[in-house]
Parts: sequence; C-alpha cells; structure tokens
Amino acid sequence: MSGFNTRAIHVGSEPDAVTGAVNPAVFFTSTYAQDGVGAPRFSDYSRVNNPTRAALESCLADLEGARHGVAFASGLAGEDALLRTLSPGDHVILGNDAYGGTYRLLTRIFGDWGVRISTVDLSDADAVASAFAETTRMLWVETPSNPLLNVVDIAALSSASREHGALLVVDNTFATPYLQRPLTLGADVVVHSTTKYVGGHSDVIGGFVATNNDELAVRLRFHQYAIGAVPGPMDCYLLLRGLKTLGVRMDRHCSNARAVAAFLSTHDAVDKVYYPGLVEHPGHDVAVKQMSDFGGMVSFTLKSGVDVARKVCESTSIFILAESLGGVESLIELPSEMTHVSTAGSMLEPPANLVRLSVGIEDVDDLVADLAQALAL
Ligand SMILES: *Cc1c(COP(=O)(O)O)cnc(C)c1O
Repeated sequence: MSGFNTRAIHVGSEPDAVTGAVNPAVFFTSTYAQDGVGAPRFSDYSRVNNPTRAALESCLADLEGARHGVAFASGLAGEDALLRTLSPGDHVILGNDAYGGTYRLLTRIFGDWGVRISTVDLSDADAVASAFAETTRMLWVETPSNPLLNVVDIAALSSASREHGALLVVDNTFATPYLQRPLTLGADVVVHSTTKYVGGHSDVIGGFVATNNDELAVRLRFHQYAIGAVPGPMDCYLLLRGLKTLGVRMDRHCSNARAVAAFLSTHDAVDKVYYPGLVEHPGHDVAVKQMSDFGGMVSFTLKSGVDVARKVCESTSIFILAESLGGVESLIELPSEMTHVSTAGSMLEPPANLVRLSVGIEDVDDLVADLAQALAL
C-alpha cells in the first residue's frame, strides 16, 4: 500500500475516464436517469448515493484503514446515526471531558429516549472497569480530548470494552488519521467532525463514521439513507480537497503548536499548559505510543481568574476569537463561556479560566508575538 499522502491525493480522485479531468466532478444532481424501470446505473437518488460523496467516503475510509466510511452533514449528524443503533435501556460510557455537543446529544436527546449515560475519568482504569454494566453497548472516547487534551490508551480501552461486549468508539477529530488510526489500535468505530482538520479551511460543516464492522456499516448506511443527514456534493468536494493537504497542514499545525506550548510554559502569567507534546503532560507517553505527533490544539490556564482569561481572548490580533478549530487560521476561545457552556455544573465543565487555542499554520513567530502581547496586557 502506498503512503498516507499519496493515498490522500489519489484515492477517490482518479482522472475522469471520459474527459481526463484530474479532479472528481461535483455532481449537482438529485436524481439519475435509469436504463429501464427500476434499473439505475449508479444510484436512484442522491440521498442514497452521490458520486462526489462516494469519492470522499472512499478516500477518508482508506486513510482511517476502514473498509466502510459514511459521510454525514455534520459531525453530530454522524454521531446521531451511530447512536441510533442503540435501543432504549442501553448504556453508554462517555469520557468526562468529551466534546460538549456529544454530551448534549447523549443527555438531552438520547437520554430522553431512554439511553443511560455514565461519564467517567478515562485515565482511571478502575473507574472505567466499574462503569461497565450488563447493558453497556458503547465506550465513547476522545483522544486527545477537548478542551483539556487528555490522552487515553486506545489499545487498553479496546480490551476493556471487548471484554464487556461493548463497542469502542473513538472521536478522532483532534488527531485526524494522519496522526492516529484508532481502528488499527483496536477501536470498533471512528467518528469525525470533518468540519475541523479534514476540511481544514473553516468553510464547511461535515461528519464521518468509519468502521470495519460489516453489520454496523449496513445499519449506518441505512440510517444515512432513511434519516437523510447527508452532505451536499459541494461540501464533499471541499472535504476531498482538504484531505489532499491534510498531511502537510498537520505537520505545520504540530510544529507551530509545539512552539506555542513551549512559549506558554515559560510565561509568568500562565499557570498550566495542556499539550500532549510536553513531557510533563500526564498522557505524553501514551501519545508517543499511539500518535505520530501531538496535534495543533493547545489549552492553558492563567494564574488569574476568568476576567483576565476573557481579556486575553479579546486581545489577540492574529488569533481570531471564535469557536471551532482545525482551520489554517489560528483561533482562540474561552471554553467555559463558549464551546462548553452546555457542560456547566457537570463533570465535563472545564476550568473557568481555561483558554483554548487552535494553532493555525501562519508563521510561528507572528503567533508567539501575538500571544505575548495579549498576555502582557
Ligand atoms: C466539532 C466537534 C464535533 C461535532 O462536529 P460538528 O461538525 O460541529 O457537528 C464532534 N467532536 C469533536 C471533537 C468536535 O470538535
């Protein structure tokens, strides 16, 4: 098999057989002419399948080492389709610092439907072991996590979930398949918000679910088609284009984030830096084992409280004050009052004065200078 970047550029993007166009067409079509009654060639309707979507699915599934990949209109739409394979009464274990929207979906939508949820500290093996119940169907993990960049051992958790007959689901949004391939480490399902690093340019919302479980894949496809949260062809094209530069972008995100984390670690106003690339990070050794680099996300707390943290977020000029992450441009935000408001009062609530950075691919000296002036105010 050829290397990651070669596959990212070529899988799903073979030159067009008729015209030789090097890029896949964006098939703006809802329906397809049929050769006879009930005899479509490729598909009968674009909710069921669309060639641009199929190209994206084949490429990203390949990069994740998955036989099956299903694209959705958003990360949460993909998570929703996956969670609908559960039944009322089933139990899900969720890491205690999962993405706020995943927590909201599980508690406010699936909770009302009868799914039971436990949130646990995934770094505590005893707590994980005792969280399993007869009815546990999924162990839902994010690594590195959002916003505290905690790292959990995918291989170890896959043994634990297998022992209890539950599926291990890994949200691989922060790492991307360039840095970490959970299915090769024993996970059963990978979910993505392709809105983030896969798209990479803050111009599209998308989601993806990948698996080697044939039976689960059939159910996911059925949900994609029966519920209909499909991405449009233009979105699929943008995501496929994003994939072609994923490797080079991630290399730069990682090297910039490493420099930013090193700068913050020595700054007087900063209390704690959360970045798995720092040797003092509690998940560093596991990250070295299961990731090829440490990603572009860095969080930190200040020695002062939330008022100063708010002011820092409002004082940068290159880092844009905004939610989301994973684009070429650097972003800054205050999770407790922005991305993670819905976790207030729960185990998932981040420290009030925690600042989260999505370190972009600008010139790193400019990024460090921007943070230095914001922290000096
Ligand atoms: C953004 C995000 C999601 C949700 O994805 P959307 O595309 O916004 O629906 C899920 N997990 C993580 C880790 C995210 O960052």
